[in-house]
Amino acid sequence: MTELELLIDFHVDAERQGPGSGEDTLKALSMIDINPEASLKIADVGCGLGAQTLTLAQNLNGCITAVDLFADFLTKLNDRAKKLNLENKITTLEKSMDALPFDNEEYDILWSEGAIYNIGFESGLKNWKRFLKTNGYIAVSEMTWKTKNRPKEIEEHWNNEYPEIDTASGKIKILEENGFSLVGFFFLSEKSWLDNYYSPMEKRFDAFLQKHENSDAAKAIVEGERQEIALYRKYKDYLSYGFYIAKKLPS
Ligand code: SAM
Repeated sequence: MTELELLIDFHVDAERQGPGSGEDTLKALSMIDINPEASLKIADVGCGLGAQTLTLAQNLNGCITAVDLFADFLTKLNDRAKKLNLENKITTLEKSMDALPFDNEEYDILWSEGAIYNIGFESGLKNWKRFLKTNGYIAVSEMTWKTKNRPKEIEEHWNNEYPEIDTASGKIKILEENGFSLVGFFFLSEKSWLDNYYSPMEKRFDAFLQKHENSDAAKAIVEGERQEIALYRKYKDYLSYGFYIAKKLPS
């Protein structure tokens, strides 16, 4: 198994592939001015196993294109959608988020939880904006500093992992510079990190190591995650995912 296949295998049994919750998805959705009569077109980019895709499908009138780079995640999302009788509202698409095959102004809402970092916040906004109708909405969650100054250890770690990490005011400025107007923002709670993401992940470590016979590559994945969790627990006052909800203004 390659390192990438191992990583996919590590995440494919999880409920969600990043911090978040159904309540966060619904809170972000509540900030969007939706015409209840309209049937909406939504794209969920970097959907993973689709925790948020399912919540959106249960709470919106319309259809969702759920995009991810990895077929294994999408296969599971299709199974989950069928079990909930949501298969008519969700279409999966195996594509990279920097090469989306969408038409200009095709979508009412672009959704992306914990995934835009794969191509970078600003690059993602610039890349995806044309797919959104004028006055349509983008809703993205993104790693964000909660303070202006941070302890050196966490500052260095995240600057190295994701140099685009910034404060919410920095991210909002980027939205504004790219023709979006912020309609809502909130930070994800500790519960969305610990109860919904890291604690379930910690419970999978032993089974994962056993399945892969304690290979060095499997141990490296677990060790990397353990370090990230320890850093989060130590420095959770300084960072979280920010959820940004913004409207595309006429250009
Ligand atoms: N939105 C899901 C959630 O919150 O549970 C998944 C978040 S996970 C941190 C990031 C997702 O982005 C993964 O499912 C990964 O497969 C996907 N991804 C990574 N690079 C991608 C790319 N270039 N194009 C599309 N999806 C990508």
